[in-house]
Amino acid sequence: MSADPAAPQPAEPDHPPVAIAAAAFGCRCPRCGKGKLFQGLLKVRPACAVCGLDLGQHDAGDGPAVFAILILGAIMVIGVFIVEFRYQPPFWVHALVWPALLLPSTILLMRVLKAGLVALQYRHRRSEMLGEG
Ligand SMILES: [Zn+2]
Repeated sequence: MSADPAAPQPAEPDHPPVAIAAAAFGCRCPRCGKGKLFQGLLKVRPACAVCGLDLGQHDAGDGPAVFAILILGAIMVIGVFIVEFRYQPPFWVHALVWPALLLPSTILLMRVLKAGLVALQYRHRRSEMLGEG
């Protein structure tokens, strides 16, 4: 057990540390920074194709969805109110425009947030991902 659970665990000898933002925005493996993290849109690969890190042990859980709901929900509600009060469009404009904006931005943001949370888990709770307890 380490003294400070929030402190980053030391880098593995063969892999220099990868910046959290680089892993998140690039959707890359948190250990090597090269392998793709996702297969498909939001499913994390079972293992990194480059370094072999077992990505199936990640524990992002509902975190990415919660952050995406809070961030995009606030932005979209503000946008809906601005458009409604300024332009007062017919209802079908809202029904068409907002889902068309929300769906792709949700998937994009969820990918970044999930990759970021997996990278944070790798940095701070690596032993869980390496099956060391
Ligand atoms: Zn890797």
